[in-house]
Amino acid sequence: MSMYFCSLASGSSGNCQYIATEETGVLLDAGLSGKYISSGLEHINADVSKLKGLFITHEHSDHVKSAGILMRKFNLTLYITEKTFRCIESKLGKYDPEKVVFIEKEKDIFIGDMIVHPFPISHDAADAVAYSFSYKDIKISIVTDLGHVPLDILTKIMHSNLLMIESNHDVDMLNAGPYPYVLKRRILSDKGHISNVLAAETIVRSLMYSDKLGYVILGHLSKDNNTPDLAYETVKSILSENDLIVGEDISLDLAYRDRVGKLYRLD
Ligand SMILES: [Zn+2]
Ligand SMILES: [Zn+2]
Repeated sequence: MSMYFCSLASGSSGNCQYIATEETGVLLDAGLSGKYISSGLEHINADVSKLKGLFITHEHSDHVKSAGILMRKFNLTLYITEKTFRCIESKLGKYDPEKVVFIEKEKDIFIGDMIVHPFPISHDAADAVAYSFSYKDIKISIVTDLGHVPLDILTKIMHSNLLMIESNHDVDMLNAGPYPYVLKRRILSDKGHISNVLAAETIVRSLMYSDKLGYVILGHLSKDNNTPDLAYETVKSILSENDLIVGEDISLDLAYRDRVGKLYRLD
């Protein structure tokens, strides 16, 4: 029995990830149009009849834009913290209140044959969380939109087989770039986004704690303060400084802003 993962898109213009077992499918975030997400699911031959839930990380529009549309289109239950729900409630359109489940941080959610664990992250949102998704001994963790990576996050993502982690910006590019000073400060703060270097350091630490991690996907890349090549090469070189060879010790990939990524199958 397997687990599946695909990033339908990731970045400040929209996020949506697909996670599934043979029996249960879920979506993480809904930051793109319903049309894009539907065609992305079709593109990877996802069985949409198995889709059961939509999990939300936080209320920023790149994560929630089509939440109501997806709930209606695929008859999904929305899993969300109450504080985040209050921020997006008015934008959902018509919804069935019975299809909204308030989650609590650090409390497992059982959905079909999958266990989902939400945990808090530091971001400039009402009540941001990240999640890990498990089936038997297979675990997928997805951690984006966070300003820093304290030790307790490392313990949450420990023993993952696949980790999608934010690699938002190159600090020099951000500092030299056109963003207003206030926005630069926000991104670099503890409640902003993590850089390529911090992403790499987190991957190295994760591998120190567990040798289960086989696949790493860099996500939520900034359009203005990063490039796919720069993110990939920065992370690859920091891994190699730590004797971790991409392609041998670990598979490293990117989640794209504007196109569907690879469908992973984990056994
Ligand atoms: Zn975001
Ligand atoms: Zn955000």
